[in-house]
Amino acid sequence: VTDWQGKHVTVAGLGVSGIPAAKALHARGAIVTVVNDGDDARAREQAAELEALGITVRLGDGATLPEGTELVVTAPGWKPDKPLFAAARAAGLEIWGDVELAWRLRGPDAAPWLAITGTNGKTTTTQMLASILKAAGLRTAAVGNIGVSLLDAVLGDEQYDVLAVELSSYQLHWAPSLRAHSAAVLNLAPDHLDWHGSMEAYAADKGRVYEGNRVACVYNVADKATEDLVREADVEEGCRAIGFTLGAPAPSQLGVVDGILVDRAFVENRHKNAQELAEISDVNPPAPHNIANALAAAALARAFGVPPKAVRDGLRAFTPDAHRIAHVADADGVAYVDDSKATNTHAAEASLAAYESIVWIAGGLAKGASFDELVAKSAKRLRAVVLIGADRALIREALARHAPEVPVVDLDRTDTGAMLQAVTEAKRLAQPGDTVLLAPACASMDMFTNYNKRGDAFAEAVRELGS
Ligand code: ADP
Repeated sequence: VTDWQGKHVTVAGLGVSGIPAAKALHARGAIVTVVNDGDDARAREQAAELEALGITVRLGDGATLPEGTELVVTAPGWKPDKPLFAAARAAGLEIWGDVELAWRLRGPDAAPWLAITGTNGKTTTTQMLASILKAAGLRTAAVGNIGVSLLDAVLGDEQYDVLAVELSSYQLHWAPSLRAHSAAVLNLAPDHLDWHGSMEAYAADKGRVYEGNRVACVYNVADKATEDLVREADVEEGCRAIGFTLGAPAPSQLGVVDGILVDRAFVENRHKNAQELAEISDVNPPAPHNIANALAAAALARAFGVPPKAVRDGLRAFTPDAHRIAHVADADGVAYVDDSKATNTHAAEASLAAYESIVWIAGGLAKGASFDELVAKSAKRLRAVVLIGADRALIREALARHAPEVPVVDLDRTDTGAMLQAVTEAKRLAQPGDTVLLAPACASMDMFTNYNKRGDAFAEAVRELGS
């Protein structure tokens, strides 16, 4: 679509993507109607702002397709089985997400996209990549699912040489024509299956990130499902499959040799078969899963032509966001670590793997997950477990099956104050050299507004106890 004048577009959902989408389309002459399920005070405020521009907003009715709609642009989170979409499909209309709209309006012209998706590690890797690109002197930003709308990024005044783009599985589902310069799928584990319908559908949506890549499809050697997605993708001629591994890299891979991150995929010097990039100690924190994130970010940066020194400088300059394996305190030889962002079992498994002897604080909303694999794999590292939250029985039962010898304190509480008691118990159970690790493997909404608040409560409790 190049001529938007007079075109009837329905935007599904107010919010971080819907509002910029409605404004961008209206500014191009489209006749925009926004439909929204909710009708609360905030929605009314947002609606008033759009109506003042001449945009129609229907609150409290996200199901009915407005008469005359020629295109639907949806917020990424809207589930594909909604009646609105059934009506749109029946009418033969296209349905675009916010990422697709950004791509169609100006994506390829604004800057090349280096795209990152995966079940866990997206935000961290996207930020690492942006840090590396900046260290190379490139004008860049971390955008997308990270909280910065792609529309704002590509339509704004700022000029970019390249964008580090975090994409969720929802965004990819609704982005059929997106073509990145290069992309990475970090890992694949069951998540959001209620939305996608099945693991196959979830994987297929993640795999879209590779479609049409020009330079590199970056995959995780330890996670075969990511490699399979590369194989199935339809890419530009000359586009290479580049693996990353925590072991020694094969040709066309990045990996680790004697504590050094090395690149055997993009080697400039013909007399060398590997290029040293950085030391493990340059990665913050140097936990195994995070070294994998660093290698993925490095692979994308190298695919874009960034020199080795910038990889090292960018990794050194990177500091992780709050509540992602954040070291809170050390007391009596015990470390207190906040990984409140470990909201699913795959993430918790990664953080548990980073420590030898752990008093584990876990529990919350399980979102239908099974804890057997996580507990079985982590059992030998557990000194003790303290359980909180609504679905703690599921974890307790998995512990009884796979780690019957590990002491478990089940707090039987879902109030916010439970965190103080949990840390008190953990402190009592911990011995010098142990790590008290908040890695709940669950969502937080049973007890807290979000994972930030949960992590803050942990840190506060640690401080209060003088730990
Ligand atoms: P996302 O944006 O995908 O949610 P984040 O970078 O915010 O990912 O990290 C979320 C959590 O996932 C972290 O707190 C950590 O527990 C875990 N994690 C990070 N990277 C990985 C990885 N490569 N593999 C498994 N788990 C990871």
